[in-house]
Amino acid sequence: MPPTHELAELATAARTCEGCALYRDASQTVFGAGRSSARMMLVGEQPGDQEDRAGAPFVGPAGRVLDKALLEAHIERERVYLTNAVKHFKFSRAAGSKRRIHKTPSRTEVVACRPWLLAELDAVEPEVVVLLGATAAKSLLGDDFRVTQHRGEMLHLPAELAPHDPATFATVHPSSLLRGPKEDRDNAFAALVDDLRVAGEQLG
Ligand code: SF4
Repeated sequence: MPPTHELAELATAARTCEGCALYRDASQTVFGAGRSSARMMLVGEQPGDQEDRAGAPFVGPAGRVLDKALLEAHIERERVYLTNAVKHFKFSRAAGSKRRIHKTPSRTEVVACRPWLLAELDAVEPEVVVLLGATAAKSLLGDDFRVTQHRGEMLHLPAELAPHDPATFATVHPSSLLRGPKEDRDNAFAALVDDLRVAGEQLG
């Protein structure tokens, strides 16, 4: 890890990271996006297919769900720092197909990538952190953490990971809405907006 608090320098250094095997098959490192002055940080799982091609987080279908949810929760995306627990796209290919299918990163990969996430937390020092989905939540709150048990609660990150103690919330990843049954989507979306709104209220 470079000894810097500058996001641009961290992003440059992360381009050549070989901290786990995921860099081999992915197109590029997808570092976080946003200003160091952002008061809120949203953490997802890993870049998806479109993010991997674009080199930017949350620009695919899940990103569009998130954009809509942020809008409804009255949180401006431009004022949020967006990142992922894992910075390279993990995928598999069905035999004979070019389509890349998302694979959940392993605990080892999440732990290998965590220094980048901690460096982003250190550089941005957000007042509020929202962990989107189990991978992000477990990265910072431990492998036993269950989003379903703590949704809507204000949590604290371990002091050794985030000494500035941001108000922390865990909710679902927006991609889960796309995977779930169509008839449940409106309720699931409303619940995500509620969670973001509660987190946003911490900013006053
Ligand atoms: S996923 Fe993270 S730790 Fe693994 S190579 Fe990419 S940037 Fe490095």
